[in-house]
Amino acid sequence: TQTLRLILGDQLNASHSWFKQIDPTVVYVIAELKQETGYVNHHVQKVCAFFAAMAQFAQALAQCGHQVMYLTLDETQHYADLPQLLEYITKEHKLTHFQYQQPDEYRLSQQLSSVVLPGIAINGTDSEHFLLPFSDIQREFTPKKHVKMEFFYRRMRKRFNVLMQDGEPFGGQWNFDQQNRASIKKNDLADIPSPLLFANDVSDILVRLKRHNINTIGKAESQLLWPVNRLQSRKLLDYFCQHLLIRFGHFQDAMTENSRSDWSLYHSRLSFALNAKIISPSEVINKVIAHWQAHQDDISLAQVEGFVRQILGWREYVRGIYWINMPDYATQNALQAQRPLPGYFWTANTKMSCMHHTIKQSLDFAYAHHIQRLMVTGCFSLLAGINPDEVDQWYLGIYIDAIEWVEMPNTRGMTQFADGGIVATKPYAASGNYLNKMSDHCKNCHYNVKLKTEENACPFNSLYWHFIQRHQAQFGRNPRMTMVYKNWQKMDTGTQQAIINKAEALLANLDNL
Ligand code: FAD
Repeated sequence: TQTLRLILGDQLNASHSWFKQIDPTVVYVIAELKQETGYVNHHVQKVCAFFAAMAQFAQALAQCGHQVMYLTLDETQHYADLPQLLEYITKEHKLTHFQYQQPDEYRLSQQLSSVVLPGIAINGTDSEHFLLPFSDIQREFTPKKHVKMEFFYRRMRKRFNVLMQDGEPFGGQWNFDQQNRASIKKNDLADIPSPLLFANDVSDILVRLKRHNINTIGKAESQLLWPVNRLQSRKLLDYFCQHLLIRFGHFQDAMTENSRSDWSLYHSRLSFALNAKIISPSEVINKVIAHWQAHQDDISLAQVEGFVRQILGWREYVRGIYWINMPDYATQNALQAQRPLPGYFWTANTKMSCMHHTIKQSLDFAYAHHIQRLMVTGCFSLLAGINPDEVDQWYLGIYIDAIEWVEMPNTRGMTQFADGGIVATKPYAASGNYLNKMSDHCKNCHYNVKLKTEENACPFNSLYWHFIQRHQAQFGRNPRMTMVYKNWQKMDTGTQQAIINKAEALLANLDNL
């Protein structure tokens, strides 16, 4: 053996060209590392999912005849970090070459590009996962500049010939969003399919995490429900095509607490499999389109286009935003938000029904769907002016799919407007009215969504106007916010003052809502 090839936990791509040939001079290393469990407080299911998926990948490679070294925390605990471990392995095995796949996270990319191994040739290669080649990010994105996702998405559709016909978008329209985004009514509840769950035994991993004093958050499950290998990921994709795609776009923004499947509704839950690269974006897109083509009488184009946009559009877009703007992006705080994250983000112990439900679900399953992340916890943090560093840490830790390249532009950019408008052209700020329209959380809430200033008024209402008022300098002249500021100015000063006073009282007591 001469060459060591490193496979990181989110590089479980069996189709990578590395694996095309069995090469007896190559040894692969896959390692559980304390540095990866410790850069943020992760959800316990997330750590289990990564470790279980890494172990399965190692096993699959070995079965194909590759030489694989799988190191658990027991074996890596003596090395302070990844470079030290690499130094040890290359020396011990007298290796001459070290190769790695380019990490998607800035932190790891910096770490690996600064590794020096005396006498050893080092080279990085592409991870062969995304549709947009890394080298094209510079052409599509400009540092510190807003790039419209919709136009990026259209270029991607053309470039990769996805849902196109004779150079035009299939169906004559790029985007069918107007047909999507319904709320779930009582009659819809019984139809929601239950999510496809797996039962991967991770009890050994849990014991190991305990033995090494790894701090985690969230509910531990010895039977992990997330997919950890290709077979399970493909089953999840099939399940999505057969049962969920049909209403994916339609109910994409809906929230409910009244269904046994309320935590994932018509969402695919493929994000972990995608982000760990167990499954590729093109595989997902092709499969979904092929399924739709065979079932066009049942499944509308709006559902498929809506789903494709998330993966070909948003997912590739946030990666570009991340790489073109790092490392500055991580320190942006355009709205000067400084408040600490309230304690109930870690306990779900709040009387706000939407917040309680979203946080509890996140702690239980390491998952919330997009609109919960954006319009419940995200919007609340924006309105309350929570420090984006703390918001980022929470999102980066709690979700099964949270890796910085995708988490940060969504959190710091899309939800917190901390990037000053690189991702969003206006802040995703909304009052309780939006939540009442899109969910059934308000029905049994301690707070009243119709009230603004009373004792039991929904906190989102006065906090919303407080946000609008305190950021008038930033948003007052934003054409997309004209109506909002008109409505604010229409209120008499007494009403305005009462709302601001109420919001001030809430902000002073943020931990007890
Ligand atoms: P579906 O609704 O079934 O969508 C299909 C796929 O589209 C997802 O699996 C995902 O790969 C992709 N996708 C959809 N929306 C986005 C988006 N905005 N950005 C990137 N990809 C998208 N996604 C992550 O993968 N990791 C994160 O850490 C993450 N953090 C987020 C933080 C906030 C504040 C917000 C608002 C969104 C975040 N997202 C993140 C995006 C999105 O919420 C999740 O991808 C989605 O909820 C995952 O569930 P799903 O697989 O069921 O998605």
